[in-house]
Amino acid sequence: MVTPFVEGWDFVQTLGEGAYGEVKLAVNRETEEAVAVKIVDLTKSQIVEKNVRKEICIHRLLHHENVIQFYGHRKAAMNQYLFLEYASGGELFDRIEPDCGMPSAEAQRYFKQLITGVQYLHSKGVAHRDLKPENILLDSNDTLKISDLGLATVFKHEGKERKLETCCGTVPYVAPEVLQKKPHHAQPMDIWSCGIILVALLAGELPWDEPSYGCQEYLNWKDCKITLSPWCKIDTLALSLLRKILVENPSKRATAEVIKNHQWYNKNFQRGLKRSSSGGSGDSSFSCGTPFKRINTGVESSVSSQRDDVKMPLTQPEMASAQDEMEAGTERSMISFSQPALAEHILLDSQILGTPGASQTMSQKLVRRMTRFSVWTDAEQTMSQLISILDKNGYSIKKNSLAQLTVSTIDKRRMPLTFKANLYEMNTEILVDFRLSKGCGLEFKRHFMEIRRHLASIINKKVPLLGPI
Ligand code: ATP
Repeated sequence: MVTPFVEGWDFVQTLGEGAYGEVKLAVNRETEEAVAVKIVDLTKSQIVEKNVRKEICIHRLLHHENVIQFYGHRKAAMNQYLFLEYASGGELFDRIEPDCGMPSAEAQRYFKQLITGVQYLHSKGVAHRDLKPENILLDSNDTLKISDLGLATVFKHEGKERKLETCCGTVPYVAPEVLQKKPHHAQPMDIWSCGIILVALLAGELPWDEPSYGCQEYLNWKDCKITLSPWCKIDTLALSLLRKILVENPSKRATAEVIKNHQWYNKNFQRGLKRSSSGGSGDSSFSCGTPFKRINTGVESSVSSQRDDVKMPLTQPEMASAQDEMEAGTERSMISFSQPALAEHILLDSQILGTPGASQTMSQKLVRRMTRFSVWTDAEQTMSQLISILDKNGYSIKKNSLAQLTVSTIDKRRMPLTFKANLYEMNTEILVDFRLSKGCGLEFKRHFMEIRRHLASIINKKVPLLGPI
């Protein structure tokens, strides 16, 4: 039985923020089904409505294990609500240790799922155009899910392919031909981004600011200077694959098929190797969820210790019109309202059934993330220590409540980086949880680790992976 999106869904927590709104976790009061709801503020700009319509038209056509499932949408007041499969495992960048990456076996597993998902998109005539670890989510089984179809477009319809002309995406991940603003084929463009993601997975850093001749790192790669970072951190077999993917000429770039036949892709890596503990984000240094509740701030905020109890202003999501389907260039004419995840199942999957605290709600235990630590100081002391450290290190800070800060800075690529720090009460400890709002995920993790180093004297050793979002 499929539960329609009717009244009775509560917005529980904020999962993330985007340029045009927020993504919230919604749980069905009766069935405890969990879905992610992307709320797009249509008043932000005139092109937003057009873009979100395109995102809906494209996303509704996609049904694949490695692509976030679209359930439906609803327009209410000046917001567009997109109902999506909820990925409780967090974002891919969170699994990457800055400057180290991750073990090859893990990287290969994620990369295979990424290529499978991208190949599926391309088989449907869809180009993603903004593939990067911030747009790749993980579910409770650690299955990779391609997300954020906000820049996606249809490049092939009824076997007829068109070249793309728009220069869009995130500069360190875009292919040279996109940057050069030449008409370009869609598939090699996405494949290039997969190559950059593979570098990030294996080396924990991005190879260049942009793939242009004005960028020395890019010239080094073209000149085969592989003794330099990040290449020196990557083994020769993986490098030989990257040599086929990060090829400037798109017509000579490896296709998904070529990638799938490469030796590294098919290598049987020894599983279960522990990663180094240098960055502290290795699996072995973390323990699972401890009951916690949010500190009572008395100030309205996106996360609360009780469900927000906000009714979704909706009765039934809009169905795809035939016109929409035509626009998206496909023959499919049904929205799939496949069964959303049951929150209770997510808990079971995550093995955090423990003894729930009296004030603990099911939803507070859901998300898996490594950018958090627990401290032994009380909330007030923690907040003042945190502010003092951030201040000393030149961050701009906005105190939203007694338990939440918005922190901004400029990263090493001179790009804006904004994240939130939230404090939660967790039995006798305080959990300090960081969430990226805007900017590069890898840079965010690097900053998080620096902040954690400065606060080492008050940090408890065990870090809960599961906690509020
Ligand atoms: P951008 O400005 O990057 O284009 P956006 O407005 O398109 O952002 P998304 O990137 O789709 O929004 O989502 C923002 C964040 O919300 C993600 O980085 C992720 O943390 C969270 N999020 C989005 N979709 C889901 C989901 N289906 N399940 C869990 N979390 C999600």
